[in-house]
Amino acid sequence: MESAGNPLYSCSNCRNPLALVEDLISKNFLATSGKAYMFQHVMNVALGPKYDAQMLTGRHSIADIFCNKCGEKLGWKYVQAYDQENRYKEGNFILEELKMF
Ligand SMILES: [Zn+2]
Repeated sequence: MESAGNPLYSCSNCRNPLALVEDLISKNFLATSGKAYMFQHVMNVALGPKYDAQMLTGRHSIADIFCNKCGEKLGWKYVQAYDQENRYKEGNFILEELKMF
């Protein structure tokens, strides 16, 4: 959960710092677990292999994001978008709200 005055989002499992509030782009994303946020940069994560996924907004090449301390799956990185209107997501990171505090 987000707390007032906290400049960081951390792993809800192990408190590993994951992202800065200043790198937050949007809170309007959805993951299977619920709400998700898009960030310009994240830290202390490991990326899985990239793969193609059909999402609500079209087909994307993505890579899963894992906490590099506890191994929890946190979200995904948009590696490539196949539709022009989704190109702005490329290189950005999605973290699930439930996995952070
Ligand atoms: Zn963790």
